[in-house]
Amino acid sequence: MWYIEKHNENYQVGWRVSDILYQKKTPYQNLAIVEFAEFGRSLILDDAVQTTEKDEYVYHEMLVHPAAFTHKSPRRALIIGGGDGGTLREVLKHKTIEKVDLVEIDEEVIKASKQFLPSLSESFNDPRVEVIIDDGIRYVKKVKNYYDLIFVDASDPVGPAVVLYSEEFYRSLFDALTADGIAAVQSESPNFYPDIFVKIVTTLRDIFPKVNVALAPVPSYISGFFAFTVASKVYNPKETTPNITFPTKYYNEEIHNACFALPNFILDMLKIR
Ligand code: SAM
Repeated sequence: MWYIEKHNENYQVGWRVSDILYQKKTPYQNLAIVEFAEFGRSLILDDAVQTTEKDEYVYHEMLVHPAAFTHKSPRRALIIGGGDGGTLREVLKHKTIEKVDLVEIDEEVIKASKQFLPSLSESFNDPRVEVIIDDGIRYVKKVKNYYDLIFVDASDPVGPAVVLYSEEFYRSLFDALTADGIAAVQSESPNFYPDIFVKIVTTLRDIFPKVNVALAPVPSYISGFFAFTVASKVYNPKETTPNITFPTKYYNEEIHNACFALPNFILDMLKIR
């Protein structure tokens, strides 16, 4: 059996399915957990592959560590979205972290991840974690000058995640961060979603003084090329040498330095050359 992931009228990707483990129409989205022959167990939301056992570490390490090591001593972190637990797992590796709030709109994602994706969702058992079931944009408006790190691990800008791509939301992130806080925002594929990618980066640039884009290859995402934007109030990730004291599968010191090097076509998209 094949799962066809359609991205537009001209491009779709086929995944051989070994097993369908779970399906549910939640109040927010269609949720499925399937076993792909090539990528292992995977979470699908509204027909978009979100995360796969085979390569989830790239996305989750690259969303978290370039920002987390740039902050000198992060204590309180917020994750918006991230119901599979992968981003949470990486944040908890930073020993200075005392508390992580995870704000997920759809509790069903967390439940399914706990049942079928233990390598990601084991993180929910950490005593430093508080799970809040709420709309991220509503939650973040209530918080001021509190978090050292905020990670936006949202699904694509369709359905419930649309609000997580607005200027209003990004300004709320700025206000919820401490004076030297840093936000890291998954910023889509520059190849397949150039308009969304450029809008995310330029909007964050209008709000934060130091904004840098990191790139990483995520094989299970269309085009494989994926962007992560680090929006910082004080510290510059390009002037950071991470002291990595825990295991990672993708991120390392050289990757930290290299990931902010952007190809000309992206520099041109962002009008920075
Ligand atoms: N971490 C995965 C990956 O590797 O790409 C994908 C992201 S995660 C599954 C996206 C999460 O954002 C979903 O669980 C979805 O329910 C949640 N979400 C979407 N809109 C939201 C909102 N407005 N507030 C909070 N969570 C939201």
